[in-house]
Amino acid sequence: MAYGRRVSPVTRAPRTLPQPLDTAALDRAAHRRTEPHLVRVLRDEPTTRVVLVHRGRLAVATGGGLELLPPEALTDVPADGERPRWLFLGEETGVVGTPTSYLALVLPDDADAEDVDIEGVDPAGPLALLAREHTWAGLRELSPRLDPAPAALATEAVALAAWHAVHERCPRCGEPTTLENAGWTRRCVAQGTELYPRTDPAVIMAVVREEPEEMLLLGHAAHWPDRRFSTLAGYVEPGESLENAVRREVREEVGVEVGEVEYRGSQPWPFPASLMVAFVARARTADLHPDGVELTDARWFTRAGLERDVRSGEVLLPGRGSVARALVEEWFGGALPGA
Ligand SMILES: [Zn+2]
Repeated sequence: MAYGRRVSPVTRAPRTLPQPLDTAALDRAAHRRTEPHLVRVLRDEPTTRVVLVHRGRLAVATGGGLELLPPEALTDVPADGERPRWLFLGEETGVVGTPTSYLALVLPDDADAEDVDIEGVDPAGPLALLAREHTWAGLRELSPRLDPAPAALATEAVALAAWHAVHERCPRCGEPTTLENAGWTRRCVAQGTELYPRTDPAVIMAVVREEPEEMLLLGHAAHWPDRRFSTLAGYVEPGESLENAVRREVREEVGVEVGEVEYRGSQPWPFPASLMVAFVARARTADLHPDGVELTDARWFTRAGLERDVRSGEVLLPGRGSVARALVEEWFGGALPGA
């Protein structure tokens, strides 16, 4: 991948990182969200497929991939309302004829309760059976073994389900909200205001220097396992540009001043609602002063040093499929060992 080892990351031709958890493999078909009774219509189409979500996790198919149920497997499940929630995810791309449409079915948290539920989940009903009869996996665990299209579906389903879960009441007045537009808005019953799904931007950056030789800055966060090192990252604050968020976070976490900032790619990170925006950031100073709170260690690595430390187990990099890993390996100029 990427550029040769002797080419500076900030002078080579722009290209974007591979985009794990990217959703381009799916047409979100936003124009269909306002169609009347869209979920009912799609449940009558035998080609429709349904992703199951329960407590932020995804139903796993027999072969270990993402479960995609045909509508006839769900005929007993209510079509409307909040228990369960139906969400329109989009359509298959690049097909001739009728594309497959995708829905998410979000089971209530208590769908697998053993006792009769005060809210009305029948422990012998279809929702309870769906919850109990499936194996469930989180997106972090499942997505590395999915192809782009199911990974996109899984990411969108988990992200949208997470937004509904925390917007059952209006943030302004506290009254209930109801689901509309096939899951893409909620409306306050008291004020009539519409609420839209939110995404919180976060910046993640490979901080690099070129003197006295090319080096990459990696840090160790206080809450990480021992020897884990990764790129710095942090949330964008209100009223702040992405570039200045990069500069502020690097200054706060390690005391390094950053000059040029170059966009490299992005990754949805719905845990619960982030978008990781990745940069290469060129350091103007080199002295490291980890803040001791968020970051307890920070080091400059040469390529040879990083390779040596990763091979010896002295440094454990973030997992494959993460944008952090992609940034590190792009700078390194190839794959590094270790999961
Ligand atoms: Zn309200």
